[in-house]
Amino acid sequence: MSTGKINVSVENIFPLIKKFLYNDHEIFLRELVSNATDATLKLKHLTSIGEAKVEYGNPIIEVKIDKEAKKLHIIDQGLGMTADEVEKYINQVAFSGAEEFLEKYKDSAKDSGIIGHFGLGFYSAFMVAKKVEIITKSFKDEPAAHWTCDGSPEFTLEASDKTSRGTEIILHIAEDSLEFLEEYKIRELLTKYNKFMPIPIKFGTRKETLPKPEDAAEDFVAETIEVDNIINNPTPAWTKLPTDLTDEDYKSFYHELYPMQFEEPLFNIHLNVDYPFNLTGILYFPKLSNDMQMQKDKIQMYQNQVFVTDNVEGIVPEFLVMLKGVIDSPDIPLNVSRSGLQADSNVKKISNYITRKVADKLKGLFNENREDFEKKWNDIKIVLEYGMLSEPKFYEKAGDFVLYPSVDDKYYTLSELKEAITPNQTDKNGKLVVLYASSKDAQHGYIDIAKEKGYEVLLLDSPIVSHLIQKLESNNENLTFVRVDSDHIDKLIQKEETQISKLSEDEATNLKTVLEEIVPKTNYSVQLEPMDSSAAPFMITQPEFMRRMKEMSQTGGGG
Ligand code: ADP
Ligand code: MG
Repeated sequence: MSTGKINVSVENIFPLIKKFLYNDHEIFLRELVSNATDATLKLKHLTSIGEAKVEYGNPIIEVKIDKEAKKLHIIDQGLGMTADEVEKYINQVAFSGAEEFLEKYKDSAKDSGIIGHFGLGFYSAFMVAKKVEIITKSFKDEPAAHWTCDGSPEFTLEASDKTSRGTEIILHIAEDSLEFLEEYKIRELLTKYNKFMPIPIKFGTRKETLPKPEDAAEDFVAETIEVDNIINNPTPAWTKLPTDLTDEDYKSFYHELYPMQFEEPLFNIHLNVDYPFNLTGILYFPKLSNDMQMQKDKIQMYQNQVFVTDNVEGIVPEFLVMLKGVIDSPDIPLNVSRSGLQADSNVKKISNYITRKVADKLKGLFNENREDFEKKWNDIKIVLEYGMLSEPKFYEKAGDFVLYPSVDDKYYTLSELKEAITPNQTDKNGKLVVLYASSKDAQHGYIDIAKEKGYEVLLLDSPIVSHLIQKLESNNENLTFVRVDSDHIDKLIQKEETQISKLSEDEATNLKTVLEEIVPKTNYSVQLEPMDSSAAPFMITQPEFMRRMKEMSQTGGGG
């Protein structure tokens, strides 16, 4: 047996670890299971290249609670460590890593976002344990080692009689962390962080009923056996090739990802790139919904199948944060603040890549099956319109698939729309006038009048529509948008000579006075103009300018 002192200048690093990582104690399990996974994958690699001459087999990782002894075990069948390696990797490397971390982030640690995403690795065990043991046997033909540390820089290292290959980590759970001895808590953590990790993780056992054989007798009693309860799916859909997946596979993965979600996604986008950065993932367009569950289900971020966060702000373009799904990339630096993230060139490239893939997918769907795309329009428009406003790269591509529906459910792309209205809706200055309604019900009278005149009326009813219109107008010089109930409607559109008014001048003046008394002056103006319509004898309109100003102030700035 040997004892020693871990080489750190901080007399006792553990109170610091505890303090800084206070909010995120639970990540210790993710770190330890990650290490167990790494150790197993390393062995797999070494056996595959012939460097480790042992049977790889079907290794699993086991997490076990010993409630009475207040211990939590994490056991793997990976490559293990020799005593020398424990010295090297645990005593030296990891400690200095922890120290370096604390040195570097002492001040910024207040920005709690950083800490949670920084894997402190093995030493995060001390956030919940007062004493940690490592019992490990290397795949190499060397005796097993037993390392013990009680949270001070002092440790002991002695021989162990462990005969099976791999590593067992034993946490003696501290009094203030006893919740980590509860089965429900550990299950919750494993499901949150380790659900898609690449090595099977056993947590307890479960009963399984054997299938009934075909020639079973009538009094057949099904046999129940006890099997390992594996909590993860080691090969989630995003790690597979798109060509190996069916629509059904994508849908069932959606439900695997969000077990509480019963709605089907509209479509998915499989992300897969390995240069200049590495990223895989699947994004889903959900049906628009006010459902609380839908809002809770967020895009999940992984690194090598380890869950990191569901706060993808700064990584995924803002207009896509409403989507669902996963992205997995080892190339996203998570030990920086959010603003640092936005400045990172890899992250920028990733964000642009996602925008491009989403645009390409939308274009593909549009071209493949326009009818179906039109059916989905109502559910996806908000995301797309917001994308046009917030992401110039997306705006550039939007012309290929963004639709402008008419009040009669006819769907135009912008260029189709321009063509359709050119003959009838060009004003004196040669500008195209796009008429639109924001509500079929509230504006039906105006819509009828416009339609009777042969004008096409769009239905633009999303909350950001006034911003979108501004954007479209400033990018298309010869386009003006005018709402059907606006006072501009007849001035802007060329039309044939109108019929003579059926009212005498006196009658008209009287009517105007009466109407003005009942209509609020601030928002509306009453104009009696000769109408060639049978749908309505007169119109009360609202100045386009005033209405827009009001709307913009309601939906907030930007644009
Ligand atoms: P990191 O995983 O980032 O290298 P850690 O602090 O988590 O840092 O672990 C330090 C080192 O200890 C690992 O790199 C590995 O060499 C060793 N180690 C930790 N856990 C195990 C394990 N279960 N089996 C084998 N080696 C391990
Ligand atoms: Mg680690």
